[in-house]
Amino acid sequence: GGWNVGRVYGWNVGRVYGWNVGWLKCWKSVWLECWKSLWLECWKSLSMKEWDIPYDELKLFEVIGAGRFGTVYRGSWHGAVAVKLLHVHSLSDHCAQLDTFKHEVATFRKTRHENLVLFMGACMKPPRLAIVTSLCKGMTLYTHIHLRKDKFTANKSVIVAQQISQGMGYLHARGILHKDLKTKNIFLENGKVVITDFGLFSVTKLCFSNNARGDSLGIPPGWLCYLAPELVRALRPHASLHLPFSKCTDVYAFGTVWYELLCGEYPFKGQPPEAIIWQVGKGVKPSLANMQASRDIKDILMLCWSYRSSERPDFPHLLSTLEKLPRKRLARSPSHPVHLSRSADS
Ligand code: ADP
Ligand code: MG
Repeated sequence: GGWNVGRVYGWNVGRVYGWNVGWLKCWKSVWLECWKSLWLECWKSLSMKEWDIPYDELKLFEVIGAGRFGTVYRGSWHGAVAVKLLHVHSLSDHCAQLDTFKHEVATFRKTRHENLVLFMGACMKPPRLAIVTSLCKGMTLYTHIHLRKDKFTANKSVIVAQQISQGMGYLHARGILHKDLKTKNIFLENGKVVITDFGLFSVTKLCFSNNARGDSLGIPPGWLCYLAPELVRALRPHASLHLPFSKCTDVYAFGTVWYELLCGEYPFKGQPPEAIIWQVGKGVKPSLANMQASRDIKDILMLCWSYRSSERPDFPHLLSTLEKLPRKRLARSPSHPVHLSRSADS
């Protein structure tokens, strides 16, 4: 209701206020105040409207995945896009939840960074709630590491980790927590890292709580090993909305991504959720026994996984540590004349 009123009156108020300022002065101050607040409301709704994509303008093609909170489609809106359509059967009648959605959408608008997916807009008219972003080409780190079993050399892992730190450092500097940093939300496009789904967690959880999947605790598979001890300790069945996320919990999750890059598997691999919860909650870290990496590389991991959140580094610090790591010189192999083929192309 309120949304439409703002939209309909937007222009009229603008005209009256803009063209007849002298005339307005004659009015009593009460009226002036009324106009002012109305104008402010309209300005607010107009500035939101810029990101409001009419649902009819979106073309949806095939489903590319079903996540926790909805379905992701390959779509078209002035070119290829990814459309995350939220399951909203019960969301629509809760104003507070709709407000959460709008608030989260408002935070995406503030993001412009090479390593973050491009937010293009949202459909915000219930029951049609959707988020439109650029379509990521390439594959997620999850697909590379866990499905294709691609091996990342230490050098490549460092380059990827640097880009993740850059994107995450930017988000944190803007006051945005990712809350769901994981290899499934990191794409690799021709060697460039693109992080997706930042700040979406509250929305995802709103829907997830109505549509519980996962085990008895409502824990989706593969999620647990990204959770910092303070989050694990706060876990309650089907009540993950009020978890104490922070910049430090994002750094912990980054540690897990770093582990996956280097080891090619999840930490605590093969252990049941209860065992992981017990260990992480107590401060037991996964074994690094089968990790073949230098001391410096393991130190980064241990710092990110610090039990006390205050001991975890922030992303700018991580970035400078990663930049200082000694790089192994790539041996030039005559059987792989990479440089030659490149120069032949250009
Ligand atoms: P999850 O991240 O847990 O896999 P999502 O709902 O975020 O769940 O994504 C579902 C699927 O859609 C995943 O396979 C993901 O790779 C794909 N996907 C999500 N966002 C994009 C995007 N912007 N471009 C291309 N594919 C995407
Ligand atoms: Mg995702």
